[in-house]
Amino acid sequence: MAAGCGLLARARREGRLLLTCDRRLDGRAVAILHLPMAPLEVQARELARQARVDWCRAPFTRCLVDNAPLRPADAGDMRRVPEPAARLPGPFRSCPACGRVFWPGSHVRRMRARLEALAAASQASPTSVRSTKEQVATTQGAGPGAA
Ligand SMILES: [Zn+2]
Repeated sequence: MAAGCGLLARARREGRLLLTCDRRLDGRAVAILHLPMAPLEVQARELARQARVDWCRAPFTRCLVDNAPLRPADAGDMRRVPEPAARLPGPFRSCPACGRVFWPGSHVRRMRARLEALAAASQASPTSVRSTKEQVATTQGAGPGAA
């Protein structure tokens, strides 16, 4: 519960929406969106429905390590890209915080396909998910940003 209290305090301080499956965090004066204990695809659909998440909005534009906005890679960044990857069409991006360089390799292609599938499934909203959706509750409404 101590970690939960830290998350609650941070969400409150930053005006964020807290996503959790932990029902013990109810009623703590912060916007909480409960997700069902379900496969990731079901949780993603529910999150898109409850918080209007667009899974295809600006993908791969933040650092995986520190969430900093990425910038276009410069010549110095490109010298650190392995040769096979450097031949890809790009875009190549780097993180101004940690210096990591990102390129559209096979991981990005797989993740892009998965995000597009989540977006399509979120818009379809099949009736078979209805019982799961009914289990989800928002204690104080959605805040302006997701944590
Ligand atoms: Zn970074």
